[in-house]
Amino acid sequence: MRKLILGIMAFMAFFIGAGNVRAYAAEPVVVVIDPGHGGENLGTDYLPIPEKAYTMAVALYMKEQLEKYENVEVYLTHTEDIDMSLGERAQFAESVNADFLFSLHFNMSLPHTLYGSEVWIPSLGTLYSQGYSAANEFLIQFGEMGLFNRGIKTKIGKNDTDYYGIIRQCALRDIPAVIVEHCHVDNINDIANIQSEEKLREFGRRDAEAVARYFGLVSKDGSTDYSSYAPLAVPVPAQRVYNDTSAPLYLNAEFVDYDKTGKYLTVVLNSQDDESPLQYYAYSTDNGVTWSPYKPWIGNGNFMTTTVNLGFGRKSEIIFKVTNKYDLAAVSNSISLKQQ
Ligand SMILES: [Zn+2]
Repeated sequence: MRKLILGIMAFMAFFIGAGNVRAYAAEPVVVVIDPGHGGENLGTDYLPIPEKAYTMAVALYMKEQLEKYENVEVYLTHTEDIDMSLGERAQFAESVNADFLFSLHFNMSLPHTLYGSEVWIPSLGTLYSQGYSAANEFLIQFGEMGLFNRGIKTKIGKNDTDYYGIIRQCALRDIPAVIVEHCHVDNINDIANIQSEEKLREFGRRDAEAVARYFGLVSKDGSTDYSSYAPLAVPVPAQRVYNDTSAPLYLNAEFVDYDKTGKYLTVVLNSQDDESPLQYYAYSTDNGVTWSPYKPWIGNGNFMTTTVNLGFGRKSEIIFKVTNKYDLAAVSNSISLKQQ
């Protein structure tokens, strides 16, 4: 099925010049869902329930939902709680002639500051375009759940290949694979999204919907028809798409106003990163020993005006930091509060 689709895509693209043309064939689409981790490999174990339990629950819900559509075959890489190497998962996908592998995960960070959803995709060629287009559907779904969008990313490791094993192993077999990091299990902003069976079911339903939209599926009962839905068209890149490895170029904090009674400080932040979007900002009143929780960077171009409440206690200086989509940070000049 995969090679047939690629052939038809190339044929049609020749005529209409689109980067992402969907084709329909009699054969079903083959979807492999990979519940991340398993067996001794717990995944994130910050919570009493390890990541492997969440990924399996969501994978089973996702399969159940996807099977409500026509013309799709759905497999899980494993249904038992077992150890399975990344190569074995990719090998399984190849054995069933997979059109796509979706590896499901939940995230955490140290020191537990990050929140939101992200999708890791292959860095090269048609696999990149397919990965980006499908990833975009997942992030649309998670955005509707109120989750922060941490973006669609590549990561290149040693030997100039994809860093993540499941993506690399599937790329060797010409199978598009993406890693779906649904949310962060260790952050207050996201935690409610995994704390009930209903929420895990919603992730499964959202994941299935993303896949159904990407492949243009029609439900068996006729209630849902994505056959004319157009997922994002992503041109095939000429070269490997590298991740950003440098922090934002600078961060400048300019004093605007300080309300000494309420301890409200207003500043204009000015930063620049030509390689990837700015994502979060935070501030510190102890010269960077501790930081406020991250807030979304909602800039007007390179500028953002923000008011922060410094709370009780003596504060003499404040600095800010901004991070880009790859969590690389630039720190600002210090603003003296005594002089204000
Ligand atoms: Zn994981």
